[in-house]
Amino acid sequence: MEKLTSSYYFDYNATSPLSPSVEDYLERGDFLFANPSSQYQLGKKSRSIINNSKDFIFNTFGIDEKFSQLFFHSGATEGINTLLFGAGFKAFKENKKISFYFSPTDHACVVNLKDNLSALGHEVIFMPINSHGEIISKELIKIIKGRSTDRSIINWTWLNNETGVVNALDVAEKIKSETKADIIVDAVQAPGKIADWKELNDKLDAYSFSSHKFGGLKGIGFSFVKDSYDYSPLIIGGGQQNKLRSGTENPMGVYTTELALRDLIKEFSSEKINKMLELKKEFEKLIISTFGKDSIVGLNASKRNVNTINFIIPSIKATLALMAFDLEGIQVSSGSACSSGANIPSRILTALKIDEKLTRSGVRLSFSKDVCAVSPEEKQQLLSKFEEILNRYKK
Ligand code: PLP
Repeated sequence: MEKLTSSYYFDYNATSPLSPSVEDYLERGDFLFANPSSQYQLGKKSRSIINNSKDFIFNTFGIDEKFSQLFFHSGATEGINTLLFGAGFKAFKENKKISFYFSPTDHACVVNLKDNLSALGHEVIFMPINSHGEIISKELIKIIKGRSTDRSIINWTWLNNETGVVNALDVAEKIKSETKADIIVDAVQAPGKIADWKELNDKLDAYSFSSHKFGGLKGIGFSFVKDSYDYSPLIIGGGQQNKLRSGTENPMGVYTTELALRDLIKEFSSEKINKMLELKKEFEKLIISTFGKDSIVGLNASKRNVNTINFIIPSIKATLALMAFDLEGIQVSSGSACSSGANIPSRILTALKIDEKLTRSGVRLSFSKDVCAVSPEEKQQLLSKFEEILNRYKK
């Protein structure tokens, strides 16, 4: 948790503050400005920094470079668009048809591709989910086996950004082994929010990450892709990154991604995970005693992450709740405000078949390992303040 003077930042699923090593690096000012494609020494320095960071990222996730490509892009929106739309575009050029399988709770950068993929002649099918947002694998396998298309591609969101519910990778592996579908994993919310965030399942086809979710800069991310995953690059130009993503590379973005990952590996210890879980439980106890068990979305899912609570305050709209928390210095978010701030029903709560009257009342609280820096007194004050706000809306 970032304590900004007098406020508590609890919106880590939206973005995180810069990691300490990234801040130190920016303060030092030794910036890698040279174009890594340039042949003089400064260019070579940028190139070697990118190559070293790339090796570090491969090693961190235990992915063998022989099997996987790694390319950098802007945020995960671009990475995921490349993998999905890039596959759709390649198939379109080859006169082939793909069935894409999305969860209705996937991020907008997935579900909003539907119209463009349909325009290329592909079909987009929404996967069956239960009331927590877990994929119902048996039903999905049946659906995939019952259709005849040239290829099936599943977008698998590992951790849901709104609810923290985990769809485990071994379930995805089983679906792949039964259906031969390609599975790309939206891994954006994994680093720092689940104990096994580095353990990628190498049976799956691709993984996308976004650096600003774990202490890196905004506008940089990376994807691992297996050689066998068939797609066309989305960004066409000078052929950088083995043509996987053209455009002048971003050495500072890449290097700060490495720095943020190094900090995370050092800091996200099992001791801190336990402390995060403890705090999560304490918040949940207060929510349950005020609004009941049903007010926490996905509470009974098989697996949840360590940092996210999505809960419903039945008597008010989320935008008002957000204001009330904000006035007390607690920054939380809701999935039910559009960019203008207007209160609209949450797409995710609607997909989870939550009573329509409550879909404007969801509040998301998401913290990080930084919460462990809070003293016991501060923690008590925070919990008391939180409880006092909840009690204002108790019926
Ligand atoms: N996927 C998930 C699960 C996310 O939470 C986000 C960002 O909120 C994205 C994809 C897109 O990442 P970015 O905004 O960095 O492009």
